[in-house]
Amino acid sequence: TAQALAEWDAPIQVCVRKRPISNKEAGKRGFDIITTTTAVHPHACAFLHEPKLSLDRSRSIVFDEYAGNDLIFQTTLQPAIPKLKEGKNVSLFCYGATGSGKTHTVFGPEGGRGSATTAADIGLYHYACSQVFGVAAEMGADVFVSFLEIYSGKVVDLLNNRQPINLLEQNGSFLFQGLRESHAASVQHCLQIMAVGTATRTTQATDSNSTSSRSHAIFRLEMRVPNTSATSLLTLIDLAGSERGVDNPSASAAVRREGAAINKSLLALKECIRALHVNSNYVPFRSNKLTCVLRDCFRAGTCIMVLNVAPTNLTVEQTMSCLHYANRIKEY
Ligand code: ADP
Ligand code: MG
Repeated sequence: TAQALAEWDAPIQVCVRKRPISNKEAGKRGFDIITTTTAVHPHACAFLHEPKLSLDRSRSIVFDEYAGNDLIFQTTLQPAIPKLKEGKNVSLFCYGATGSGKTHTVFGPEGGRGSATTAADIGLYHYACSQVFGVAAEMGADVFVSFLEIYSGKVVDLLNNRQPINLLEQNGSFLFQGLRESHAASVQHCLQIMAVGTATRTTQATDSNSTSSRSHAIFRLEMRVPNTSATSLLTLIDLAGSERGVDNPSASAAVRREGAAINKSLLALKECIRALHVNSNYVPFRSNKLTCVLRDCFRAGTCIMVLNVAPTNLTVEQTMSCLHYANRIKEY
């Protein structure tokens, strides 16, 4: 069986997911350039080619193109779910270029607007919802859903008509002023609330100029035990495309500015992870909206990063830069 990622004691757990080649790529004569070695599980393997990592101490898993969302869930998030009962926070980030499969991983086909008919297609958020209600029942907690997006340096509420949200710093944590936190009575109710939010995420999932690929989407499930201060938080994050739009001379000024803002936020994220790893007294959460919003994810929690990569030669540079980012994080 696959060794559960979350059992490995690490500040941040990194895995790489390769998606299948698409018809579009095949049509452009793209070919598969990524070889994975499977060892731990038929569709999930450790980084065997890394000489300094031995299998049992490794913090990395590679998922090949046959791994469905069901396997990703079982190997990454599911083992971390019991932590929520201890009042800890659990989060999962998807990082990668536009078109690499981040939204598919978190929200399923077409970002949750398509129909997921098989277990392999259902987005991780759906699995997370299903499990959280079991945990909440055991804790005697209520479940609150919120869903926000960071776009163009602004935080907006996807469950409330893209209302802007102000971040207020108070006693070392950030309050989301005006954020709608919907009380979800059941898994079904939770999914209904989310359907509204996913419909609010604009335009096509794979269009590299679309708002959704240039925004960070943050889905939060918070469990609160009434009349106590006990809370735990599960967060799933579909990060903006990591490709460097700034380098594209044909991109408009607005798109290039946006690309620069994204690079900055992803860099800020890496800086925070690094500071957390070296136990620095100062973690620069405040340096960026993204890291402000994600601050709670890192407190007393399990943090999983999925690096999504497309399989072909057509996107080799983006894939290399993504793997490079992964390697840096893995070393922290
Ligand atoms: P991103 O959010 O990183 O821009 P998407 O999740 O939109 O990328 O994926 C791009 C396309 O590839 C979508 O049509 C999506 O459904 C498809 N896709 C992504 N990952 C997989 C996968 N593991 N299996 C099948 N199709 C996938
Ligand atoms: Mg996407």
